[in-house]
Amino acid sequence: MTAVRTRRSPFAAEVRPDGSRRFSHEAVVARRTLLAGLVVAGASGGVLLSRLSTTDRTVAAVDPAVHDPVAAVAAPAPASTSTPSAAPPVVPGPSTTEAGSPWVVVNKQHALDPLEYAPALAVVGGKEVAASIAGDLRALLDAARADGVSLSITSGYRSYARQKSVHDSSVRRNGLETAESLSARPGYSEHQTGLAIDFGGSSAPGCQLENCFGRTRESVWLRANAGRFGFLQRYPEGKTGITGYDPEPWHWRWVGTDLLARMAERRVTTLEEFFGISGGTAYA
Ligand SMILES: [Zn+2]
Repeated sequence: MTAVRTRRSPFAAEVRPDGSRRFSHEAVVARRTLLAGLVVAGASGGVLLSRLSTTDRTVAAVDPAVHDPVAAVAAPAPASTSTPSAAPPVVPGPSTTEAGSPWVVVNKQHALDPLEYAPALAVVGGKEVAASIAGDLRALLDAARADGVSLSITSGYRSYARQKSVHDSSVRRNGLETAESLSARPGYSEHQTGLAIDFGGSSAPGCQLENCFGRTRESVWLRANAGRFGFLQRYPEGKTGITGYDPEPWHWRWVGTDLLARMAERRVTTLEEFFGISGGTAYA
């Protein structure tokens, strides 16, 4: 099994023998320095400050129970790459390339750097997710429950090693071309950031990770409410050539309410279009 390395940055976390992660004093100082800088930048950008500090917490990791090893089921289609025609807009705010950034864009053209990046983790609804989104995710689940909607988390964080094992066995079984249409390459899955959630529900158990999930009351609730908690429907209808994925009504990505408001203002529904970042169904 491939060991998961934490990235070497001022924010790097130390991994304990039991798998939990702890941010060093230097990491906390570096984070506070960044926050101080962001306060200044925020005067023109309106940045998400509160979100970053939540990753300072120490959170124990547990063994993931992966329910959907092959979550991204897409019909084989001619590979294509989308390149924005206009110059990328300058958007003040967190990085779109730093693996631990709340705005990181991961798609088939843009892998995580480092490839084996692992976030600090928390457990919500029995699944591991990035510690930074635990509060919003719990609040979302609570709000759904209060509305009588029974949402569950089918899949959250998936490690590089887990994705590699799923992808490798799929390649052995199906050949490379089919395997690539069934599961993301390790290092290229948004689930490895810990910011992506595959939701499920009890109203239609047969629709887990299926298109018909989009017609369930859980999905209707998510479309009406998930944005209040910072979650974006990441693979919408009609955008496969841009995101690289067929529509996945169950897959939601935390980006924060600030970015969602800016996307709504510009009537843009994908991160690629908003930031002017290349995407598409072909791997880089
Ligand atoms: Zn997913």
